[in-house]
Amino acid sequence: MVNVMEAILRDKLEHLIQNFDCCKCEICKDDMLCLALNSVSAKYVTSHKGELFKRTETMNQMATTDLDIIVIKAINKVARQPNHQ
Ligand SMILES: [Zn+2]
Repeated sequence: MVNVMEAILRDKLEHLIQNFDCCKCEICKDDMLCLALNSVSAKYVTSHKGELFKRTETMNQMATTDLDIIVIKAINKVARQPNHQ
């Protein structure tokens, strides 16, 4: 199974993090993605074809700006307290 929200939020994170002067290592990006994912409901699909369909449907249902805000909050939180030296 695939959680389509993970794909959507990962895309957003890769895009939005470019606007921040913070650590962009895999550890921090994983922590940011994890935080953001915990703020939204998981949406699981089983096939790749279904994933694309569901992903589009999800994007239409949720205001994109709401997801942006969730990702930006996660970036800010991890940027302040990175989980490594
Ligand atoms: Zn880092």
